[in-house]
Amino acid sequence: MKYILLIGDGMGDVPVPALGGRTPLEAADTPTMDRLAQQAEMLLVRTVPEGYSPGSDVANLSLMGYEPERYYTGRAPLEAASLGVELAPAETAFRCNLVHVDRPGDGRLIMIDYSSGHITTGESRQLIEALQAECGNDLLRLYPGVSYRHLLVYRGEVPAGFTTVPPHDHSDQDVAGFFQAYRQIEAFPPLLARAERILADHPVNRERQRQGKRTANAIWLWGEGKRPAMATLEARFGIRGGLISAVDLLKGLGVLGGLTVVDVPGATGYLDTNYEGKAQAALDILEKDDFVLVHVEAPDETGHQGLVEEKVRAVADFDRRIVAPIVETMERRGEPFRLVVTMDHYTPIQRRTHEDWPVPMFLYDSRGLAVPSNRTYTEANVLAAVQESGQAMLSGAAFFRRFVEREVHQ
Ligand SMILES: [Zn+2]
Repeated sequence: MKYILLIGDGMGDVPVPALGGRTPLEAADTPTMDRLAQQAEMLLVRTVPEGYSPGSDVANLSLMGYEPERYYTGRAPLEAASLGVELAPAETAFRCNLVHVDRPGDGRLIMIDYSSGHITTGESRQLIEALQAECGNDLLRLYPGVSYRHLLVYRGEVPAGFTTVPPHDHSDQDVAGFFQAYRQIEAFPPLLARAERILADHPVNRERQRQGKRTANAIWLWGEGKRPAMATLEARFGIRGGLISAVDLLKGLGVLGGLTVVDVPGATGYLDTNYEGKAQAALDILEKDDFVLVHVEAPDETGHQGLVEEKVRAVADFDRRIVAPIVETMERRGEPFRLVVTMDHYTPIQRRTHEDWPVPMFLYDSRGLAVPSNRTYTEANVLAAVQESGQAMLSGAAFFRRFVEREVHQ
């Protein structure tokens, strides 16, 4: 048996006036999903447990069968895994943004830009390497990542009640209070002060200034956590496989779940992504292994940007360029497979942010074992089908067991 989990990030939505009151899933042309969904079983899954914020990290962790209550320790440990950085038990990972701040001189600290003008990876690597050379020691290590997104590993105690905030939630706001909170960790104030001195003087920043670009004049630490104690999917369910995504968080989940993480050239996380490359990579994995997860980011991005036509296109592309080629090839290969199409969370166009509502999905079995829904895949159809069947809402872990464990669907 082959298990195929296809995730359109943020694909769910509410009726959009510009679409005549339809959602993008209802408006988009999705012949393959329509065909499969009618023969499939529909499920409603709570990917974001009560009290968790509906991030892609928590929601996708759920979809992979790991209870966030038990396994979610923060965003940075997932990013560490995707960078290949192993965390020792005594170590805590922090996301380290290169940011641009302003100090007007009255005690305020204004977060101007969480991304330092989307600084390039080449530039930021030089900055982070300079910081590591000057400030790295037994307690603190810096690792370069992509663009403004880097990693700090701290070997020491993080006091109870220590909290940080993501800089992108505080653009143009006074963050002096949040900055003060770093004082609870003795090693941080000297690190932050020294980092600002080194950054101010660095040739990369002088050149950016000359070109009229925003400099990276400070670091901001957040998203901290220890390595989650995740057993691999192979250890838990006896399945081996791979994960395909353009997004670091997802790749980190794949590493921690023991999956082969495939880097597909041209996978961008947007409408211009290399869909064909991703579908082919999934089919390659399925030639030898049991399981593949394909994650497509474009529906979420277009939702955040509030772009109606683009979100409809992202959903149609997901159907035509991911779902269709994978299904057609699997049918040609003639090997039985179970396939799920879902989203991790809603990203409604009108709200432009994630919602923690239960996600609609369908579970198709090529052997035709499921009681067919006779419905196409839309938010309302899944809700109606689930209500009609009296089926309970599932947790992510319960969904995953139902997906991959043979005995529950005999
Ligand atoms: Zn997401």
